[in-house]
Amino acid sequence: MSFALHGLAVARGIAIGRAVLVASSRVEVAHYFIEAEQVEAEIARVRRGRNAVVEELQRLQAEMPHDAPPEIAALLDVHLMLLQDETLGEGVKQWISRRLYNAEWALTTQLEVLARQFDEMEDDYLRERKADLEQVVERILRHMQGTPPPVAAPASGPRRQTAQDQLLDGSVDVPLVLLAHDLSPADMLQFKQSVFAGFVTDVGGKTSHTAIIARSMDIPAVVGARTASQLVRQDDWVIIDGDAGVLIVDPSPLVLAEYGFHQRQSALERERLARLLHTPALTLDGEPIELLANIEQPADAAAAVQAGAMGVGLFRTEFLFMGRAGRLPDEDAQYRAYCAAIEGMQGLPVTIRTIDVGADKQLDKTFKDEHLNPALGLRAIRWSLADPAMFRTQLRAVLRAAVHGPVKLLFPMLAHVHEIEQTLAQLDLARTELEARGVAYGALQLGAMIEIPAAALTVHSFLRYFDFLSIGTNDLIQYTLAIDRADESVAHLYDPLHPAVLRLVAEVIAAGRAQGKSVSMCGETAGDVGMTRLLLGLGLRSFSMHPAQILAVKQEVLRADTRRLAPWAQQVLAGEASANLSAS
Ligand code: PEP
Ligand code: MG
Repeated sequence: MSFALHGLAVARGIAIGRAVLVASSRVEVAHYFIEAEQVEAEIARVRRGRNAVVEELQRLQAEMPHDAPPEIAALLDVHLMLLQDETLGEGVKQWISRRLYNAEWALTTQLEVLARQFDEMEDDYLRERKADLEQVVERILRHMQGTPPPVAAPASGPRRQTAQDQLLDGSVDVPLVLLAHDLSPADMLQFKQSVFAGFVTDVGGKTSHTAIIARSMDIPAVVGARTASQLVRQDDWVIIDGDAGVLIVDPSPLVLAEYGFHQRQSALERERLARLLHTPALTLDGEPIELLANIEQPADAAAAVQAGAMGVGLFRTEFLFMGRAGRLPDEDAQYRAYCAAIEGMQGLPVTIRTIDVGADKQLDKTFKDEHLNPALGLRAIRWSLADPAMFRTQLRAVLRAAVHGPVKLLFPMLAHVHEIEQTLAQLDLARTELEARGVAYGALQLGAMIEIPAAALTVHSFLRYFDFLSIGTNDLIQYTLAIDRADESVAHLYDPLHPAVLRLVAEVIAAGRAQGKSVSMCGETAGDVGMTRLLLGLGLRSFSMHPAQILAVKQEVLRADTRRLAPWAQQVLAGEASANLSAS
């Protein structure tokens, strides 16, 4: 039966495909298609993993002391029984042989199918066995991690024709869309090179970091869809409408045809925008506008150049530090990563932001922040200043990389003058350390993120110390309006047009301009085409966003006349005009 679910629109476009439910495994799992000739080897890999766990549990059973509590023996029996149950093994085989899923993916898919069946059981005892099954699968996965796939080449999608495939332009390649209760930013990053055509999560706000990564992938995504991962079943046909934030499950042929049409329309729109690639970003009255890219990994630099970015306005370096089980990359590894981004940008400036972990961006996804308000806790620069040796490792790596191209260094979440002074003292110390080692370093322009209301209100202090500022609207809005950016239940209150937010943004831009210092904006608002004209009217001349949004924003810039927009923006600020230009 067809039904629709509503969430928050995160990344535009429409995806039509079969649902892949991702089990909430604590083990990192790769998702790729194997070649038909690898099927037997993949099945064997799962079998070896399972046999290893069986042996391990049998050994535990044999070595169990006589006085051990009987519950432990019973638990081992249950785990052994689950391991040997055919529904697990057979299901996994099917996913590998019919769908060409890699072994780990097949295992977690079957786990999801069985977990659903356990959830539906009437008997409490049986229902609780779901946790045992999860543990057993996790053990197998961990064993398999020691046995890499014979050939890990991602291949094209599986071939399986159904009546509905015919409707999808006659294509036989079935697109897949991923559904999960929650995905950490690190999970999302892992999916960046993956096979999925769209994403849906139950939780998350529009500017949560998971949503930000989804947007950077430029494929349709919806977050905050609440119960989607419970209501949708493995393999259901779904449509993700990333523009409206809607998920349609089991659509009728008529609805499928309608969305197929929308999909083609948006492809045409993208082709049209692509014609603007080499057009300079000048307003009608000749104001040059700097359009920059936000990146998460050095490899993203290529997409930034291809999209016509004039540089990187925000390199979120924390993503280099994730998924490493808490072991941070050393100075040389970081240096190489920064050099790769600089090289990728081919002489264009790269703004490297120092590590911003904490709140919804944890280095290790299994880490649970026990603090009551992690977003107000030891995040970003506070985290760096709490561990000066780690901080200086990053600073030295950036200083060394700056020999190879124009680099700007950006510090997140500063609020106090003493934090600024401490930060700059650490930078001086990092230079001194390099000099003592006789290592060359380059010149840096220094900037501060303005993302805490206190920073916006004391912007003059910041201008004394820094060469440039970058407004982080994601956090500025979160902290001004007291809205958790990652919480879908308050997402309707997250408002870039709130007069308090606009006033802070306007004051920062005006203060920077008055002192001839560059003010950029790198929060998601900078890539929102509905905001471009207002920001231009407020005097913003530098915008940093995901590469995929650059051309759409450029189109707005080309149609704008800042002389006309400036007085209107002041009226909006005073509450005397609508922020919607056509209504004013
Ligand atoms: C911001 O807060 O607007 C920003 C760009 O930083 P992040 O989203 O990484 O917190
Ligand atoms: Mg921020």
